[in-house]
Amino acid sequence: MTAQVKTFLCRSDNIGVLIHDSETGACAAIDVPEAGPVLRALDETGWRLTDILVTHRHGDHIAGIPEVKEKTGARVTAPRKASGEIPGVDVAVGEGDTVSVGSLTAQVWETPGHCSDHITYWFEQAGIVCAGDTLFTLGCGRVLEGPPEVLWRSLQRFSALPDETQVFSGHDYVLSNGKFALAADPNNAALRARVAEAEQAKREGRFLIPSTLAHERRTNPFLRSESPELAQGVDLPAGTSAENVFVTLRSWKDRF
Ligand SMILES: [Zn+2]
Repeated sequence: MTAQVKTFLCRSDNIGVLIHDSETGACAAIDVPEAGPVLRALDETGWRLTDILVTHRHGDHIAGIPEVKEKTGARVTAPRKASGEIPGVDVAVGEGDTVSVGSLTAQVWETPGHCSDHITYWFEQAGIVCAGDTLFTLGCGRVLEGPPEVLWRSLQRFSALPDETQVFSGHDYVLSNGKFALAADPNNAALRARVAEAEQAKREGRFLIPSTLAHERRTNPFLRSESPELAQGVDLPAGTSAENVFVTLRSWKDRF
């Protein structure tokens, strides 16, 4: 069982992801923001698309599905809660379901907060989590279908993953997330180093996706809201619950 992964930019800041199972030749696209870049990535790699795994119903994650499905015949797996709003769904899934891509297996988590239908694919053996618009490098999704406590509970599940887990998120918001993270957590040396790394990557035409849980636990303010520095960063007294610090951080980020 070996997973190979390719990431690439779609639209202006969406991230396309292909996960290839070298044992069976199966290959999954995580969302299809637009068809062109996904088809080009398949051409470049020579991988044959068998599956499309949809994280949520927003247009910038599903717009390319009809064309890519027509050209590849891929099977479309999508959140049951929004399956009527996503084109070409073959398999509707929810919490506790398992999805196979060749010999690779993912557990489905329902991770609402950004929107109510959002799901995450956790490939435990491959050490890969496809977070969509829930967890970003140095940030988290906007709360469009709240309350924010719902997103907080979803993010707790990521916090429990092993250090080396690779986090694939749906957008390259790394630099703007980094600016906010530094404002909220200015004395965090690991964060300053990570932002410098992100700036260097940008200059070289790369982005810090995937990240790892080890990096995010040390640098992502939304996974660090239990630490006293973050309470201080949002002017709340020491001892404020991590959940309340998170809610305050999230609403500050909306105005940042
Ligand atoms: Zn979205």
